[in-house]
Amino acid sequence: MQRIIVIYLIFPIVLGAEWNYLLNGMDWPDLCATGDQQSPIALDTQDSRILITPRIYFGDYDVPLKGPIFIKNNGHSIQMDIPETINGMQPFIRGGRMEGSYLAKGVHFHWGSPNSKGSEHTIDNRRYDAEMHIVHRNAKYKDIVEAVEKEDGLAVIGVLLQIVEDPTDIPTGLTKVINAVVNIPIDESNTTIPAGFTLDEMIGDINHNDFMTYDGSLTTPNCHEAVIWTVFTQILPVSYEMVSKLWELRDHWDKKMMNNYRAIQETNYRPVYHRMGNA
Ligand SMILES: [Zn+2]
Repeated sequence: MQRIIVIYLIFPIVLGAEWNYLLNGMDWPDLCATGDQQSPIALDTQDSRILITPRIYFGDYDVPLKGPIFIKNNGHSIQMDIPETINGMQPFIRGGRMEGSYLAKGVHFHWGSPNSKGSEHTIDNRRYDAEMHIVHRNAKYKDIVEAVEKEDGLAVIGVLLQIVEDPTDIPTGLTKVINAVVNIPIDESNTTIPAGFTLDEMIGDINHNDFMTYDGSLTTPNCHEAVIWTVFTQILPVSYEMVSKLWELRDHWDKKMMNNYRAIQETNYRPVYHRMGNA
């Protein structure tokens, strides 16, 4: 009997895929524990260097995606694959601190609970209700598997979401994606939605030219230090109704998928830059 209990306790640690958010990642092993360029971090607009740099160019973010769009509950978040646009091009970003182009590959989210906020990054010690990540892969690498091994492999755009009363302009694409999560309530379930919206319609009208940027990591195991982070300083207002749909999802253990954000990591004297401006 005792042996069975011991095996049961060790098993989840051995199986890398079965990590969880019970301790917000404080118990994740390997690079997640030993890395010195980890994410997320506490972003501080007063304590960062001012970055004189070109704005980020959002290529084909204004062209409708070609459907159907695949969305999955992967047991720790919801993941939307980014298909080509109707012109047959993969949306991309370049500029900022990036060299070359980075292709938009996927969107996922981190969130809290009815009683707690769940963005990963904080700005000026403030945590927001949720955070959207748009993951891009350096076009010079052939796939994500190769890119995560390179320090310039990935570029992630972070958009902080805040619940407000009567938000006026919730982006239409974002609304379509979140409305679809009622169809993927449990781990490994998936759905498709018709396309006809653009990546711009996931982000809305928030200022794309004012952002914080630094070198960091994936915020899920194996926490590869391969990410050029860009987090918009302007917050996207959303509705309680929208975010509450995420709280209804079930995770890998059929528990409520809540507080799926990683704890703040040490900055370790990394430069953090703030690009200010409207143009
Ligand atoms: Zn993420």
